Amino acid sequence: MNYQIDNKGFYGEFGGAYIPELLRKNIDELENAYLDILESEDFKSEYARLLDNYVGRPTPLTFATNLSAKYQTQIYLKREDLNHTGAHKINNTIGQILLAKHLGKKRIIAETGAGQHGVATATVCALFGLECVVHMGALDVERQAPNVARMQMLGATVIPATSGNQTLKDATNEAIRDWIANPHSFYLIGSVVGPHPYPDMVSRLQSIISEEIKEQLVKEQDKQNPDCVIACVGGGSNAAGAFYHFLDEKEVDLIAVEAAGKGIDTSETAATITIGTTGFIHGSKTLLMQDDDGQIIEPYSISAGLDYPGVGPIHAHLAKTGRVKYISATDEDALKAAKVLALNEGIIPALESAHALAALDKIQFKKDEVIVVIVSGRGDKDMETYMNNL
Ligand SMILES: *Cc1c(COP(=O)(O)O)cnc(C)c1O
Repeated sequence: MNYQIDNKGFYGEFGGAYIPELLRKNIDELENAYLDILESEDFKSEYARLLDNYVGRPTPLTFATNLSAKYQTQIYLKREDLNHTGAHKINNTIGQILLAKHLGKKRIIAETGAGQHGVATATVCALFGLECVVHMGALDVERQAPNVARMQMLGATVIPATSGNQTLKDATNEAIRDWIANPHSFYLIGSVVGPHPYPDMVSRLQSIISEEIKEQLVKEQDKQNPDCVIACVGGGSNAAGAFYHFLDEKEVDLIAVEAAGKGIDTSETAATITIGTTGFIHGSKTLLMQDDDGQIIEPYSISAGLDYPGVGPIHAHLAKTGRVKYISATDEDALKAAKVLALNEGIIPALESAHALAALDKIQFKKDEVIVVIVSGRGDKDMETYMNNL
């Protein structure tokens, strides 16, 4: 079974580049250049140098002593929370800003929901002295004021999207409109979503997560492969990166956790793989939450980073082929898991990451098994939600 992109930009039946004709030139330019650039020695050495001395990689693979005792198995935490800016998103923005630089682009466009990707983009734009325009739903601008302030302090222009529900979907539409109007800009997408080649490009840039896990496990366990890797899925970039080097290693179980919100049988959920059907969103064919008329159903999750009505096409394919098992965790499951991690290990996870941790309550592992849970980000940004709910 092939779990990677084919030469037409599809993962099985999912993916592709369904875009307005006006963007064809931009997408073609990127598609023709991205692999050569990503595989060039120039790019590789600069990417590695920045991950090392700017982002702070490799991130630790922490053996969770108390959690392991509690769940009667061997649990390791992959600490993406310790990256500069507090999550895995910077792995991708560092890579794409280098790509933009190689392509000679001077203006960067991004969309953001909770603001995490916007902050990671504004950060690398400041570092490279490039103009940064971030589209953000007007409602999100209000709800995520601290991240808006961060982006502004980093020199970015935040443009509120006032159409539709004034959230991520609308911000994405505005970003695409901006790109059409300003074709010399570079559109820096924040997850494994969007038209080909973005899903593959972002997967490759996040694959550093599984590359490091393999190296680190050899030191810990004298073997490269754990028995199981668990990650949360919004658009799916931290999961895609965490699974990347294990996809062809059959003995490694891969588990992805979606946000069930208030429950998958309520209308307030973001569990796209569980309840979604095939359709088109943000330029690719994938699974999404839609009604019978093909109207997108507004997603809901307590976690802003998982509150997305689609999912990267790689995940639609990995679900369809059965390579990855997709489960879901409710708001309540995630809140409980966050508290367990904080009290047992002294680590406050992002609410998104807490969904991955919630899998430990849902799956029975054996005592000698080695489980790696991706802590995709830190919980500082979620303290208000934790205080209001715990
Ligand atoms: C954005 C975000 C996510 C969700 O994005 P993916 O592309 O699914 O990884 C998960 N965790 C954190 C901490 C985030 O900031």
